[in-house]
Amino acid sequence: MGQYERHVFVCTGDDPRTLFPAECERAGLIRCKLQMMRSQPIAPGLVGPMLAAGLTLLHYPAFAACPSLAAVRARYERTAAETLGFGIHVMASRTGAGELTLGDSHEYEGAIEVFDKARIDELILEHVRVFLDVPNLKIASRWHGIYVKHPTQPYFVHDPVPQVTVVTGVGGSGMTLSFGLAETVVASRLDETS
Ligand SMILES: Cc1cc2nc3c(=O)[nH]c(=O)nc-3n(C[C@H](O)[C@H](O)[C@H](O)COP(=O)(O)OP(=O)(O)OC[C@H]3O[C@@H](n4cnc5c(N)ncnc54)[C@H](O)[C@@H]3O)c2cc1C
Repeated sequence: MGQYERHVFVCTGDDPRTLFPAECERAGLIRCKLQMMRSQPIAPGLVGPMLAAGLTLLHYPAFAACPSLAAVRARYERTAAETLGFGIHVMASRTGAGELTLGDSHEYEGAIEVFDKARIDELILEHVRVFLDVPNLKIASRWHGIYVKHPTQPYFVHDPVPQVTVVTGVGGSGMTLSFGLAETVVASRLDETS
């Protein structure tokens, strides 16, 4: 038997409960739904680097050390409570085809519905217009994605039975962390010398 035939890795993303529901329940994994949009192509030269603004400072823990963050939060609580309630922070980035990718919201567990909320898209667009002047911005498509996150850890790795490892819960950083996480977990579970 080859070394890669001795171990099963279960990486089922936002559906960890189908195969090992009790373990995932105990770990307290939380589902999060995000709504995003993509515009029709905008005029060349209008947007260069990826753009973000004040709401993004509130969203990412990396900004927690900023001394003025409490004042920013107080301002948004006063002026944009509904936006904060949907976990919205606004980022805009341009694709190679000239479209703008716009997002996003964060709704957790009980708040998640099969239907997307038109109000969330309206609020995202309102905040985009605060810092980005794109004449005739037209939305071409709307979508949502769901990820799971661990309540305190950056990811969830667990061995429910011998030779089976569940890896999920990478939350909003999964695209960034996944290759490093995969390499680390696989190396730790396989005897690379055999
Ligand atoms: C809108 C949105 C924006 C994001 N933005 C960023 C970002 O900017 N930066 C970043 O780092 N991360 C971002 N993420 C997070 C990132 O996409 C996720 O953390 C990552 O995709 C999780 O990877 P995963 O392999 O655990 O799960 P997934 O990517 O969900 O892959 C799981 C796969 O398993 C399959 N599957 C499920 N159940 C079964 C089964 N029973 N049998 C077989 N196959 C099954 C699914 O179909 C799927 O293909 C974003 C996520 C969303 C939704």
